[in-house]
Amino acid sequence: MTWLYYSFATLLVLIGVKEISSFLKNNMLVVVNKEDIIREDNMDPESILSLKPDNYDNSMDLRGTPTHVCVCGCNVFNLKVIFNDFEIVQYFLDMECASCGSLATAPTPVDKEI
Ligand SMILES: [Zn+2]
Repeated sequence: MTWLYYSFATLLVLIGVKEISSFLKNNMLVVVNKEDIIREDNMDPESILSLKPDNYDNSMDLRGTPTHVCVCGCNVFNLKVIFNDFEIVQYFLDMECASCGSLATAPTPVDKEI
């Protein structure tokens, strides 16, 4: 009876190896550090509202030249927009860096032509 158990176990191992081989042939395993993953549950509604500097000690007035990136390296800005028909139809040119609070000028399509 023991030989029957060994035969059955060998059969199961062979089937398992074949299935794992088939799985690895069609899929890719990726090992990622959990700390590198930004989890959606951390994106609570208040987090977007907290995208502003804690203080304005390092802020500057950089208005005048349209820019996509603040001098601190941040490319996220707070500015006021007007929506119509589910699209942004107008935005104010004064914007504030979300990281350091510096004031900057928003770029426009006209600036791209220049
Ligand atoms: Zn900045």
